[in-house]
Amino acid sequence: MIPFSPPHIDNKIVEEVVAALRSGWITTGPRTKAFEKQIAAFCGVQNVLCVNSASSGLELMLHWFGIGPGDEVIVPAYTYTATAEVVIHCGAKPVMVDVHPDFLIDVGKVRAAITPRTKAIIPVDIAGYPCDYDELNALVNEASVRSQFTPANEVQRMLGRPLLMSDAAHSLGAWYKGQRTGALADVTVFSFHAVKNLTTAEGGAICLKLPAPFDTELLYKQLCTYSLHGQSKDALAKTQIGNWRYDVLDAGYKCNMTDVAAAMGIVELERYDSEILPRRREIFEQYADAFHDDPRFQIPEFATPDKTTSYHVFALRLAHATEPERDAAMQRIFEQEVAVNVHFIPLPMLSAYKKRGYNIQDYPVTYDNYAREISLPVYYDLTDEQVQQVVAAVKKAV
Ligand SMILES: *Cc1c(COP(=O)(O)O)cnc(C)c1O
Repeated sequence: MIPFSPPHIDNKIVEEVVAALRSGWITTGPRTKAFEKQIAAFCGVQNVLCVNSASSGLELMLHWFGIGPGDEVIVPAYTYTATAEVVIHCGAKPVMVDVHPDFLIDVGKVRAAITPRTKAIIPVDIAGYPCDYDELNALVNEASVRSQFTPANEVQRMLGRPLLMSDAAHSLGAWYKGQRTGALADVTVFSFHAVKNLTTAEGGAICLKLPAPFDTELLYKQLCTYSLHGQSKDALAKTQIGNWRYDVLDAGYKCNMTDVAAAMGIVELERYDSEILPRRREIFEQYADAFHDDPRFQIPEFATPDKTTSYHVFALRLAHATEPERDAAMQRIFEQEVAVNVHFIPLPMLSAYKKRGYNIQDYPVTYDNYAREISLPVYYDLTDEQVQQVVAAVKKAV
């Protein structure tokens, strides 16, 4: 069986994790801080906070911005549930909009969905391909959007417009007009979940790039506290002699990254540009070569002069197929010992969202993308021979 996305765990990772375990410090400490600095340098931003998942990072930032009941947050209908569930956890309403055929949020639809209650927009870099960030940044800064924004607290007043928070769970290392994801929105959140391009088993990172007058260094320090019970000193600071007394500044959250997890991330990031991304790119190119001139298939857009993907998911589509035909093709691919997947079942098709009144008929492009999509295996250890096996299995099945 060719698996879909096994993690790449080698001796280097095992040794670094063991070193963390033996170091005497296993939770948030020197390795987490080093990993944060490395991500910041990689993405070209000043400040990065590591957390225990992308979901908790997204939710932490919605809470920081003071989003709550009565507020609306615009999200694409085509994404993983995490993007919208964090909005529900805040007591606010996810307002879903349709996407383009490239799977990315339709900025025109975002504009049409903005109301005086809109507090944030969460575009998602599906499959690792960056959204149209110039258009999104221009939109949140439009005079009419700023003038209808109704701030409810000090941070909202400071920003003076909806927060643009990128769900970049897939797109670490992707490029948009010469900049990396992380540096393209006010806040960008990466995921290091086991199936993502770079993994710490579970984990995430929040990149801060808020405009003046925000001081992202100060905000980083506040978020360190906010992600650790609101306690004024972390456990490491308290181990310093005589430094036991602490205060709790607010009812915080508990979503800090451990040094055991960061140990994996440090090794992974060191070789991400030199080894991981180039191998994933080769696999993408082999699939593109194999499928681009076969009229039964539609290959995804993954590189233009403005954008380069992080090569997270190769979202192949059948050129002409209904949802049941796609499902049948997938079954035949599985029968040939190849694991494939669908990214994603649109939110309005899932029980949690259907019962909240969302209807897939309102999102025709999302449905069309989904109904014909088959995600192919892409991972560092997938060999060229296995890529050809996948291609053969898919062609035969279809
Ligand atoms: C994986 C994923 C997340 C959540 O990441 P976690 O680290 O598991 O919380 C969020 N959004 C998208 C689009 C994802 O694929």
